[in-house]
Parts: sequence; C-alpha cells; structure tokens
Amino acid sequence: MTKKNKIYLSPPHMSGNELALIEDAINANWIAPLGPHVDEFEKEVSAYLGVKDAAALSSGTAALHLSLKILGIKKGDYVFCSDLTFVASANAISYLSAIPIFIDSELKSWNMCPESLEEAFKKYSPKAVIVTDLYGQSADYYEIIKVCEKNSVPIIEDAAESLGASYDNKKCGSFGEMAIVSFNGNKIITTSGGGMLLSNNQDYIIKARKLASQAKEDYLHYEHVELGYNYRMSNIIAAIGRAQLKVLDSYVKIRRKIFNNYKENLIDNKNINFIPELDLSYSTRWLTVMQINNNSVNSLINHLISKNIEARPVWKPMHLQPLYINNNFIKIQDKSISKQLFDNGLCLPSGSNLATEDQIKVIEEIKAFL
Ligand SMILES: *Cc1c(COP(=O)(O)O)cnc(C)c1O
Repeated sequence: MTKKNKIYLSPPHMSGNELALIEDAINANWIAPLGPHVDEFEKEVSAYLGVKDAAALSSGTAALHLSLKILGIKKGDYVFCSDLTFVASANAISYLSAIPIFIDSELKSWNMCPESLEEAFKKYSPKAVIVTDLYGQSADYYEIIKVCEKNSVPIIEDAAESLGASYDNKKCGSFGEMAIVSFNGNKIITTSGGGMLLSNNQDYIIKARKLASQAKEDYLHYEHVELGYNYRMSNIIAAIGRAQLKVLDSYVKIRRKIFNNYKENLIDNKNINFIPELDLSYSTRWLTVMQINNNSVNSLINHLISKNIEARPVWKPMHLQPLYINNNFIKIQDKSISKQLFDNGLCLPSGSNLATEDQIKVIEEIKAFL
C-alpha cells in the first residue's frame, strides 16, 4: 500500500493493460516459470533494442551474474566496474569470487571515465568491464569501446536504469558483448521484479537459459553436468512486462518532461546543477538528479523528507562501501569525481505517474529551503 499523500521517488506505474495479459496467462493455466508470454517478451524486448536475442530472468542482478559466468570469469580474475553504481553491478563479480576494480566517473556523463579506464588497463588485465548507464544516461560509448577494443576485453552494459535511452541513435542495452536490463519495482517499467540478459551472440543467450534452469541437460531424466541456478522469469511476470513495454517510450517522455520542469524552475540558483546529457545521448531521466554545491545536500534531503517527499542521496560509490573498501579504485589526477557527486547529489521524485501539483510542491519546498 502507498502511504497517503507521500510523494514517492519512482513508484510502479501500471498502464491498465496488465490485467488482461495476466488473465490470459491464468486462463491458459501458464502459471509456471517459462511459457508463451516469456517467449514473446524476450522477442519484443530484443526487437525494441535491436539486439538478436534475450533471456528473461528473475532479476537484473541474476543477468549480471550469468553474463560474467558465461564469459568464464572465475576466482581471482579482475573485472573493472563503474564506481558510481548500484551495488548489484559489483556483487555479481563477487558471486564468482572475482575481484572488482572500481573506475571513477567523469563529469561529462557522470559515467565511467574513459581516461581512468585507460589508466586501469596499465595496472591490471581484467577479463571484463561492467559499464553502468547511470540514472538513464548512457556512458560515452565511443570512448569506452575504443579503450576496451584496444585491450581486447569485453564490455557488459548495465542498462538497468536506461531502458528506453540511446547513444548516437543506438539503444542502451545494445552495447557491449552482453547487456542487462531490470524490471524491478522502481525502474522505468516494472514487472514487480525481473531482468533480462541481451546479446547479439545467440550462443550466450542459449547458455544463459540453460544456466538459469539449474543447467539441466537435454535428457528426459534430470541430468546435470554444470552448476546452475533457478533464475528464470515466470509467465505471469512476463505478461506484466509485455503490457509495460508498450508504454515505455511514453513513460520516458514523461520522465524527461519532469526533469526539464525541475531544471527550468531551479537552474537560476548558482549552487545548483543537474545531471548532464551527452550531445550524442538521449537519457531516460530515470531519476532527476541534481547537485547542490554548498554542503547543504543532507539538510535539503531531510527537509524534503519532513514534508513527506521521498528524496535520496546519489548512489554511494563502491570504493566507499564497507563491503568493498579494500578494493582498488582508479581515478585520474587525484580527482574522485564519484565521491564529489555522492557528497553533493540528490535524487528527486521522478515517477512517470508524478502528479503536476506534486511536482510543484517539491519545487516549492526546494525553493523554500534555498
Ligand atoms: C536496479 C539495478 C540493478 C539490479 O537490478 P535488479 O533487477 O533489482 O536485480 C543493477 N544495476 C543497476 C545500476 C541498477 O540500478
């Protein structure tokens, strides 16, 4: 249940067509993992992203885990990872007892800094690079790809927050050797929980489907050669996803409008700036994120919370997490951009179902605080 009058950060937004598809799944008695809606959902998401194939899974985290497993990442291997991200990107590396090395952000995109990435390659030989498209904004892929190709290391794109975004007219979720998306409850579209692994290499996806089904071999009896997982998506969940996918582009447009509205109303304040958008990119503006450069971000967040408005700091960088504090963090010129973004950044209510009067209230409360 949602609390009355509270303005949420990014709540689920049902389109109204979900029930009909859920009903179809129930009438057909496909209440199992897998089923016709799963097959169709995989086809529809791959077609939307312009990627050859997709495996529907129980979460974005599961998709990250399988992507690394499929690339053969094992104990002691190094994997580079965006420093400013949600912990799921890094945890997938740890699940395989591999070692994450965190790469700093750049101010231009807030995403992985290509120069820091280049620095990291001078010190380590990683088996893969996980690049997050933060808050709906793609990384600067031409630069990132150049560095990774020079070193012949595959990219895994973490597009959990950027389904619907693009970079140079190519959809986020189509970069890298593999990409993942998430349908968690707070994402742009949701199935309550779920994710997908995408790749143009169909062998990877076939492998992912097998690993996600306890790696059952193709026999009548249950034969297992490899260690597998229970990571497949259910048919009911996929039915919700199919209805949500149809409204994805319209939800992105609404989130972008919400972002622009915050920006127009607050940008006059000299201490405030907003998450940028690269010339080549089209962001989903999953969350409107702004920076306030006078050490008042925590009091502003507390002020908003006291007014029943959900606001949150930016992701705490991985190199500052107690879980990962001893891991290496690569930056250039002694700058810790990710820390600076965390220290001064906050996320504002940005859901595609945010009422106009609620956004006005948030803006007024920020102005009152300033
Ligand atoms: C949400 C998210 C994930 C994980 O997705 P789940 O479906 O919740 O497991 C991974 N990476 C990033 C950057 C995310 O925001």
